[in-house]
Amino acid sequence: MIPIFEQMESKEHEELVFCHDQETGLKAIIAVHDTTIGPALGGCRMWDYDTEEDAVKDVLRLSRGMSYKAAIAGLNLGGGKAVIIGNSKKEKNELLFRSFGRFVQGLAGRYITAEDVGTSVKDMEWVRMETRYVTGISRALGGSGDPSPVTALGTCSGMKATVKKHLGKDTLFGLNIGIQGVGHVGYHLCNFLKKEGVNLFVTDIDNKSIKRVVNEFGANPIGLDDIYDADIDIYAPCALGATLNEDTIPRLRCSIVAGAANNQLKKERIHSQMLKDRDILYAPDYAINAGGLINVANEIDGYNRDRAFRQAEDGIYDTLLAIYKRSEDDGVTTHAAALKVAEKRMEDVSKLKNIYLPKKNVMGRRDSN
Ligand code: NAD
Repeated sequence: MIPIFEQMESKEHEELVFCHDQETGLKAIIAVHDTTIGPALGGCRMWDYDTEEDAVKDVLRLSRGMSYKAAIAGLNLGGGKAVIIGNSKKEKNELLFRSFGRFVQGLAGRYITAEDVGTSVKDMEWVRMETRYVTGISRALGGSGDPSPVTALGTCSGMKATVKKHLGKDTLFGLNIGIQGVGHVGYHLCNFLKKEGVNLFVTDIDNKSIKRVVNEFGANPIGLDDIYDADIDIYAPCALGATLNEDTIPRLRCSIVAGAANNQLKKERIHSQMLKDRDILYAPDYAINAGGLINVANEIDGYNRDRAFRQAEDGIYDTLLAIYKRSEDDGVTTHAAALKVAEKRMEDVSKLKNIYLPKKNVMGRRDSN
């Protein structure tokens, strides 16, 4: 295994916490990547990793991604992530998550947790019994609930910014949009896009999900593999990662890729360049799908659904236009431009630290100098 400090140094991590509780069997790792802008927020993933090394690598990779996502979304948050090592189908219980919650509380607000792959709203409610540094709680308990409607609205708004930039149009009206995956986000995206007068083309491995959007929104079903060659203006990946790769990019007939899925580019640098070379404007995934993060971040100051929707809609539109401008000015891919925009914000905010502030300990706010 590569020495841990070497791994932390290479990606500029601040802190890595190994949590173990003999009683509950908890084995968790919390990574705080960067708190320049604010406390590190990121979900808690529960996964049966083959090795501890895999768990370390995953938590370091994911926490770094969260720093960029929060920075680009204009949130007062840094990046963090946690992983609980274990089988999420068999090994979940109240005490496991409460013991995890006590470790989170021990970090005194430097890390704020949330649900992620393998964890649920219910698990976060157990965590909340031990710490207030947790988001993604149910609406019933005053939390933000299901993030997918906000993610879908942000994605729809990001599509509008991308269409404005690339096609010079102010609306999505009459465009053909292909959505790959009509699960939580894809379903709500269909709903928003239908209201914009879009022609919807949809694909999914789950027939029930397809039928639902065909019946409710008049969507046109297409084959799983046909989405790449379809005669559409926008391809919206809303299912899997790595669907933009050396096999699919040459097949695309769309001029825009804008969807909610995470990690859409199989190899970030190579495949963002391939898209640029084909004059396909790519909306960087972590910028256009930030609605979910914006939604949970809104819990920190007391959840307000209208505010979360407005922030996702306006914020993501503006963010994407800023990325496209940077990409054009610097002659780089939109992927590279997004990294630059996020890094610039982290750098700019860090300069504020020159101004002395007395310490205070309020979630979501800078705690000290
Ligand atoms: P989901 O599981 O509810 O929906 C995914 C859908 O994709 C399912 O209907 C599934 O059947 C379908 N699918 C799976 N494999 C497929 C394939 N090969 N081809 C076509 N369809 C396939 O997930 P979701 O919450 O809607 O999230 C979708 C994507 O957006 C994921 O990549 C997720 O990480 C990302 N994302 C979601 C949110 C959110 O708020 N839920 C926020 C940010 C990013």
